[in-house]
Amino acid sequence: MSDKLNIAIDGPASSGKSTVAKIIAKDLNYIYTDTGAMYRSVTYLALKYQVDFADEKALVELIQRYPITFKQSKEGQLVFVDGEDVTTAIRLPEVTQNVSQVAALKAVRQKLVQQQQVIAKAKGVVMDGRDIGTVVLPDAEVKIFLVASVDERAQRRYKENQEKGIACDYEELKEAIAKRDYYDSHRENSPLKQAKDAILIDTTGMSIPEVVLAIETIAKEKLNQG
Ligand code: C5P
Repeated sequence: MSDKLNIAIDGPASSGKSTVAKIIAKDLNYIYTDTGAMYRSVTYLALKYQVDFADEKALVELIQRYPITFKQSKEGQLVFVDGEDVTTAIRLPEVTQNVSQVAALKAVRQKLVQQQQVIAKAKGVVMDGRDIGTVVLPDAEVKIFLVASVDERAQRRYKENQEKGIACDYEELKEAIAKRDYYDSHRENSPLKQAKDAILIDTTGMSIPEVVLAIETIAKEKLNQG
């Protein structure tokens, strides 16, 4: 058996998935894969090439024409598509507001899920998203479902924006998070939901190191079980 395993982390928007996934990947020397960045990149391409968010065929063509790649750097993981570093651009409000519509399309999901499964084939991957434990890696050895109250998630995002100097309104932020969660949880294809064998961690009131420790403890137990 491989001495590495796959760790799937799912949960609603701004639940801290990517923050903890990145730390865990670094600690364990695993590869971190941000699947949200892939759906965001397709949405970015649609905006760039003025492709309708409902035009499934044209969106799939964009995915085929412009492969998404991740690169490690001193500043953390960078996302590239169409020869551009889109790491910052895919976090802009225009992308965030439209990504759920693009991510709801079956053919778009099929293409990206295939790529995610290839990345995770050799094990040693920490992957975060909405459907990792249910659809992408149903055999992942560790499955975590991270939740936190919408207030706490909005507060975290608000603080993060303030630190980055991005102006935003707290109530608007909270509403946008709740709306995206509703959309992601109620879509027909691979909705956001906890896998039956996933461990639920409510991070409300927990610090980042506490969440990391909880997940790494679960991973180490699995590794010891062999
Ligand atoms: O994780 P992040 O908030 O960056 O994800 C952006 C959007 O991409 C989500 O709101 C969801 O619509 C979509 N997504 C998805 N499945 C994933 C990851 C993200 O549908 N595995």
